[in-house]
Amino acid sequence: MGCGTSKVLPEPPKDVQLDLVKKVEPYTGYKTDIYKHFIKGDGDAIKSAIPSPPCHTNPHVEQPEPRKNRVAKYRAKFDPRVTAKYDIKALIGRGSFSRVVRVEHKATKQPYAIKLIETKYREGREVCESELCVLRRVRHTNIIQLIEVFETQERVYMVMELATGGELFDRIIAKGSFTERDATRVLQMVLDGVKYLHTLGITHRDLKPENLLYYHPGMDSKIMITDFGLASARKKGDDCLMKTTCGTPEYIAPEILVRKPYTNSVDMWALGVISYILLSGTMPFEDDNRTRLYRQILKGKYSYSGEPWPSVSNLAKDFIDRLLTVDPNDRMTALQALKHPWVVSMAASSSMKNLHRSISQNLLKRASSRCQSTKSAQSTRSSRSTKSNKSRRVRERELRELNLRYQQQCNG
Ligand code: ADP
Ligand code: MG
Repeated sequence: MGCGTSKVLPEPPKDVQLDLVKKVEPYTGYKTDIYKHFIKGDGDAIKSAIPSPPCHTNPHVEQPEPRKNRVAKYRAKFDPRVTAKYDIKALIGRGSFSRVVRVEHKATKQPYAIKLIETKYREGREVCESELCVLRRVRHTNIIQLIEVFETQERVYMVMELATGGELFDRIIAKGSFTERDATRVLQMVLDGVKYLHTLGITHRDLKPENLLYYHPGMDSKIMITDFGLASARKKGDDCLMKTTCGTPEYIAPEILVRKPYTNSVDMWALGVISYILLSGTMPFEDDNRTRLYRQILKGKYSYSGEPWPSVSNLAKDFIDRLLTVDPNDRMTALQALKHPWVVSMAASSSMKNLHRSISQNLLKRASSRCQSTKSAQSTRSSRSTKSNKSRRVRERELRELNLRYQQQCNG
């Protein structure tokens, strides 16, 4: 959801001075983008939510190149070993450190996705290592499968199964109808994948709608979990507690915010957020101001007011409540969520109230307001960064206070 990319990344080494959480600025397409020379493929394949670079008429500013040159330059980003085997077709996705392209295997004509990660930057290297470490271990019908990997000094190319059905919410908006039964079917597939990951000691740590893809455009398509760049894989003998602060702000569990050691139940919190969005098209916790957003999360305060909540069943709300539980010990596990009466009874039921109108309206409203605020954020970013040092201490104090309140809440 939204048109910007904002992740809280794993913490840097202690000697690096940083803000409390590191923010990856929304994609600008023309400013500090490390991929600025990575040219779009078939224009129509690029997601419309990504803002286009501004169209300058100033002769001193680089003019758009002819398409042929652009495509040639873009293909040049690929190692000859990759292009010897795969035809590069189009850019299909952009993430914080990566570009994802659709390719075709030259011999078999089979389509695949290649995720290209620039590894000369520390963040890119770390994300790539986590992702490969997990993808090499997993094989599950609801998880994107890694096919092969090419590595060069500056880039890694991961050849993966291609999901052609689009991201979860794009599909919901396009679908025209959406019921609680549809929601439980989506959640069942995601929960199956998450249960498998947790059994292997893997925590995804960045579950959100953008990382849930439909395998094909058909109505009966399965959902696949992707993007393991922030995932944590427990090695044999490790305890199961993690400490790194990372994730996407709106989906971060309270225990991560207060820097308590945490477990794979942070994924279950994110699934609570996703379930809430699935049923309403709105976010349970939302505020442009990070401190206020985190305060809402720590209190675990959200409401079921506004459309379409009056039409949503109490069982569905109970399911969400048992995931958006501030104390991780009281939160449902993936197995418990799969056995929740809402999931069990709804998946088997037939006709249900269509919630689509309000959900898609809410999703679209939010997407457009996010794009507006991303644009204004871009124009005010430079003035804000000069203030960030001053406000860091204030935010640290606020977080300490929040931490205290959270502890009190957990203790009763
Ligand atoms: P990041 O870690 O940078 O967020 P992702 O792995 O999430 O990167 O990829 C960015 C986007 O690319 C995804 O949101 C999705 O739209 C698209 N994408 C990623 N992997 C695939 C795939 N295997 N098939 C189709 N599209 C994909
Ligand atoms: Mg992603």
